[in-house]
Amino acid sequence: MMKGDLLISSMLERAERFFPKKEVVSRTSSGTQRFTYKEVGKRTRQLASRLEQYGLQRGAKVGTLAWNHHRHLELYFAVPGIGSVVHTINIRLSPEHVIYIINHAEDELLFVDEDVFPLVEAVYDQLKTVKAVIVMTDNELPDTKIESVFSYEEWIKSGDEKFEFPKDIDETEPAGMCFTSATTGNPKGVVYTHRSTVLHSMSLSLADSAALSESDSIMPVVPMFHVNAWGIPYASTWMGSTQVLPGPRFTPEVLAGMIEKEKVTVTAGVPTIWLALLKELEENSYQTDSLRAVICGGSAAPAGMIKTFEEKYNVPFLHAYGMTETSPLATVSRLKSYQENLSKEEKLDIRSKQGLLIPGLEMKVVGGDGEIAWDGEEMGELLLRGPWIADDYYKDERSEDAFIDGWLHTGDVCTVDEEGVIKIVDRTKDLIKSGGEWISSVDLENALMAHENVFESSVVSIPDPEWQERPVAVVVLKDPAVSTSKQELIDFLRPSFAKWWLPDDIIFMEEIPKTSVGKFLKRALRDQVKEHYEQ
Ligand code: ADP
Repeated sequence: MMKGDLLISSMLERAERFFPKKEVVSRTSSGTQRFTYKEVGKRTRQLASRLEQYGLQRGAKVGTLAWNHHRHLELYFAVPGIGSVVHTINIRLSPEHVIYIINHAEDELLFVDEDVFPLVEAVYDQLKTVKAVIVMTDNELPDTKIESVFSYEEWIKSGDEKFEFPKDIDETEPAGMCFTSATTGNPKGVVYTHRSTVLHSMSLSLADSAALSESDSIMPVVPMFHVNAWGIPYASTWMGSTQVLPGPRFTPEVLAGMIEKEKVTVTAGVPTIWLALLKELEENSYQTDSLRAVICGGSAAPAGMIKTFEEKYNVPFLHAYGMTETSPLATVSRLKSYQENLSKEEKLDIRSKQGLLIPGLEMKVVGGDGEIAWDGEEMGELLLRGPWIADDYYKDERSEDAFIDGWLHTGDVCTVDEEGVIKIVDRTKDLIKSGGEWISSVDLENALMAHENVFESSVVSIPDPEWQERPVAVVVLKDPAVSTSKQELIDFLRPSFAKWWLPDDIIFMEEIPKTSVGKFLKRALRDQVKEHYEQ
């Protein structure tokens, strides 16, 4: 068989050649713009040619600080297209972390959205390797003291829209880079290759995975600055799908409006986004019947949420699991054909687990005594390996804690049932150890979120002299005017849990602190709970 390097530029070439009329719909600060793949191709080639004129070398890093829009998509293809590395930077990180990762990656150019520019300007004198900043805007350039600042549209003008992508790039060369949004210490960098990106895109398109296809209109809500929007922009371009990019500072109203107007069939994001969308759908009326999948990952999807989407809005839900180190797709939760006859509850229970391993990957779940039994009870740490799993962190000593004997140690504790379906019980550091036994904070919070008055809930441990640790739940109510007592919530949990699992206390708060990508920030929450008891 021929070898044929798997290159990112070939994915765009396919869209240009076979789907030149299909569209990328991009919401920017000046409104919604539409580009065909023919136009996206020309603009991307122009950008790639301009980067080459500029003298960007193979392997050089280009940082982006941007929302989901067409220019970001062009960077996704132009930068690796010439053999350089597109380093997407999370715009919600603290300035200290932004400085750290730009210096650590040694970014030479930064492509920045106009509303993120003030952040870059504030830290610019601490950036050691950046030579120029290109602002992605439809408007005038902002006033600035930084010398080398250009407007994207002006900058790419001298590029050649007929530029040919070089094909002498090896598929194992670096193409992209992303840092985890660390909750402790500095973020850790993961480098994706052409090969890993192409194979991961293929996995997203498998029928038993997300099944992304030409006929889809796909709206990634998960940011393009976080794990490449779960790889969706690459896979959807390759398949020739319509892409709907929701742009800067979107609200649930914007998202619901775009689903309706652009007849979105697939959308993807973290549970907090979907909780907010459900609230919007409850308050205002939208047409959502185009949706064939709301993909949810990043944190466990509460069963109650899946049920509401499917039963109240007739919108199919797809729960998936992964992490920055796994590109990210690792498992998808779907019923096996012979499980279709199970009861509604049984099916919901299976589908709210994280699911089955994607073809192409290998897994092992290891507890204290080696590999655990697949009985849905025993717990162990999930280990993964495969062609789109990282094998180290970029220039980082912490690699040796996570990559051991050819396996990625995910830090996620799970069970595996007889069918091979994994259920993430907790992150190792969030599991609650009470009297020598483990309690899953995730199970408790998901159960609480199924209560009709609860908007969000997160469960953390507090130190306990007798039991070591005990669970305490923090609850945000949907409507503070509709009061719900602690006792009512505990009684609500009682039928589903052993007595010793029930939280010792329920604290009502107005908000739960979240990470830059919308996950519960348990470290900050533990501090707030501690303060609550010290008051
Ligand atoms: P960060 O570490 O920056 O939050 P990641 O997106 O890499 O970013 O986070 C990966 C982690 O998110 C996983 O290790 C796991 O703990 C959690 N996670 C991802 N998807 C799910 C899911 N479907 N259910 C439960 N936890 C999940």
